[in-house]
Amino acid sequence: MGMKTGFLYDESYFWHDTGNGALFLPPGGWIEADEHGESPKSKRRVKNLLERTKFIDELHLIKPRPATREEVEQNHTRSYVERVKQLSYTTGGDGGELALVGVGSYEIALLSAGGAISSVDAVMEGEVQNMYALTRPPGHHAEREMGMGFCLFNNVAIAARHAREKYGLKRIMIIDWDVHHGNGTEDSFYDDPEVLFVSLHQEFNFPPNRGYAEHVGEGEGRGYNVNIPLPAGTGNAGYLHALEEAVVPIADQFKPELILVSAGQDPSAFDPLGQMMMTADGFGKMTSVVKKMAEKHCEGRLVACHEGGYSPAYVPFCSLRVMEALSGVQSKVTEDPYYGPLAGLPSDILASHQKKAVEHVIEVQSNYWNF
Ligand SMILES: [Zn+2]
Repeated sequence: MGMKTGFLYDESYFWHDTGNGALFLPPGGWIEADEHGESPKSKRRVKNLLERTKFIDELHLIKPRPATREEVEQNHTRSYVERVKQLSYTTGGDGGELALVGVGSYEIALLSAGGAISSVDAVMEGEVQNMYALTRPPGHHAEREMGMGFCLFNNVAIAARHAREKYGLKRIMIIDWDVHHGNGTEDSFYDDPEVLFVSLHQEFNFPPNRGYAEHVGEGEGRGYNVNIPLPAGTGNAGYLHALEEAVVPIADQFKPELILVSAGQDPSAFDPLGQMMMTADGFGKMTSVVKKMAEKHCEGRLVACHEGGYSPAYVPFCSLRVMEALSGVQSKVTEDPYYGPLAGLPSDILASHQKKAVEHVIEVQSNYWNF
């Protein structure tokens, strides 16, 4: 047996306080106060399911260290980082657009970004084969000058910069399968040919007017930004088709030295903030495709960082399938307990309009890559 899959979390990730609200809105007006959509629940239940099934014993636990101020400021402006800190030390508030900072969130956000960094170190130094980091707050919407969409510091972007700085990597690939567009990560590397960013997301979801296939990067970075907007209702078949037809050929030419995944489990069929139809098994299959890419090009070096996912019931099972695929170990959860109501949906059938969406991406990207 080779090296294990690593798992990283910290109790404080569940203490980042988004307060009350309903889905993404704060209470007030017609909105009755409830639990905010980005509550700790989904992620805590991932850890709980790992414990309950004892699958956690199959994984190598890695502890996060906080990111330094300097590491965060490689990716964000000093004034933005300072704003998050001030809010965190006073009343809390919005660090940008729908980016809630609770009292004490600053240190937790540093530890979340640091978790991504620690994960890169564990993989690069050969302590583990690959990693699943249960990072919270998430990061992929966070832009240079402001937080957005529940994201404070861009964990994956900060980790990519760390990988480049510490290990001298020249070709890092980031695959973002969160249902929302990874605008923050796109922003970080838009003119940068050393970081290939691929975002699979639901078209016309969030943020508005971002994530079009035509947004291919600029300057030296042209062709190194690959947006794959998929129509609402896309399920396992559409996601796998996009990966196999559009992403694998690009990876074969780019030859990444490390693959980072922004693993949002919100393309699931039960997610309240997306309209896609992925099942838990689909997440496992998607992970297997990415794992194969990593084995082919970079000795299996792969770090998955948790982003979104707002179905507390289903996210744990989706994440478990991701970790099973990463580790090659099957958990005791042999059947998806929530599959019943999904069984009749055409998740495993590729619809022609989904195929067409991928064809369009390939057409745009064929200016830069061979298919
Ligand atoms: Zn998301």
